[in-house]
Amino acid sequence: MNTLVIGSGGREAAIVKALARSKHSNKIFILNGNDGVTEAECVTDIDMSDHQKIGEFARDNKVDWVFIGPEAPLSEGLTDTLEGDFRLKVFGPRKYEAQMESSKAFTKALMEKYDIPTATHKTFMSVEESKAYLKTTDFPIVLKKDGLAAGKGVIIAHTLEEALNGVDALQSENEELVIEEFLDGDEFSLMVFVNGDTFIPFSIIAQDHKRAYDGDKGPNTGGMGVYAPVDYIEQKFVDEAVEKIVKPTVDAMVSEGMNYFGVLYLGAIVTQDGVKTIEYNARLGDPEAQVLLDLMESDLLEVLMNLDEKKETKLSFRDEYVVGVMLASKNYPDTPELGNEVVIPESIQDDCVISALKRTDDNTFVTSGGRTVLVLGRGQTIEDAKTDAYKKVEQIEFENDAVFYRKDIGHRAF
Ligand code: AMP
Repeated sequence: MNTLVIGSGGREAAIVKALARSKHSNKIFILNGNDGVTEAECVTDIDMSDHQKIGEFARDNKVDWVFIGPEAPLSEGLTDTLEGDFRLKVFGPRKYEAQMESSKAFTKALMEKYDIPTATHKTFMSVEESKAYLKTTDFPIVLKKDGLAAGKGVIIAHTLEEALNGVDALQSENEELVIEEFLDGDEFSLMVFVNGDTFIPFSIIAQDHKRAYDGDKGPNTGGMGVYAPVDYIEQKFVDEAVEKIVKPTVDAMVSEGMNYFGVLYLGAIVTQDGVKTIEYNARLGDPEAQVLLDLMESDLLEVLMNLDEKKETKLSFRDEYVVGVMLASKNYPDTPELGNEVVIPESIQDDCVISALKRTDDNTFVTSGGRTVLVLGRGQTIEDAKTDAYKKVEQIEFENDAVFYRKDIGHRAF
């Protein structure tokens, strides 16, 4: 089978690797693969927003499956064009269904209607209303921008002053702002393959590290590190998430006439009152995909084919731990400084999943985005995997503070 992966980050590099391991895989194309992708042919002359050209490329190259990695093309309707105009098979929801991620107000309304456990919330249409409401609430409180924000559209405000500034930062006039209850507890990420009323949850969960600095301090980011599996969160909570959140969500989507095909990512939190939904995403997590797909033993193309036919499928994962440490550009997430040199020895390049680095020679790269490379460590225990990851990180050379990374990835597991 020929596949076309859409996206240029670390998640897409990991998807390519997983597809390359499939016994059904023939040619893999990636639009626009980064310099770390070696198993696919990188297509660089088509703009990601030119949906017609992408369709023509896939048709002309006899692509059997298109796998869409990031949220933006999903929310812009790439799936609709590829399925509708080109009759292609696409793994990734259509624009309407992608609202599960692209609109916080949409998903909050769905969860409310179907009694799916989540933080209580209110939606406000103007800055004035948001601010008036905040003067009546307790703190901490959570402000969420409607629409896509690459993980940076959420502010947890501890005081009224922070909250009022947060409104100014997140809400423009005529834009919705969701203000919700702060939930306290351990978070986990659960990926679920969904086709309409059929769903296959991953049997292992991952834990991302959203905050920029050690000790979960600093601003929210796209993700500074990750590990899987997460054993310290008891299986009963994962089962509860499947029974009380995933299944009712899939049923709710069906009842609403949605036909969801793709990954539904559940960001969940274990609170005193049970497991609750923090958010849904309409695609694999980045950096979760890099560790989960690394651990996945199942043949990804076979899983897709079975899911397409709604056949029962079990996913299997290696019995090991993987820890991923993200190197982020200086000043990420505010104003990342790009163009700085990073040297990665050849001996560890296979364990470095590149998100945004440009290769200038065999081992030398320059930073070309906020999150640059996820360094993977593996081991029979989480401790071993962590030690392995940081040993590799230490072998990477860079000038001063061209990149930074958290030193405490996996800390909750200890
Ligand atoms: P989101 O973009 O909705 O995933 O939010 C990003 C991060 O903000 C989450 O991973 C949480 O760490 C945090 N967050 C979001 N909503 C809440 C909430 N209601 N209570 C506590 N933390 C939250």
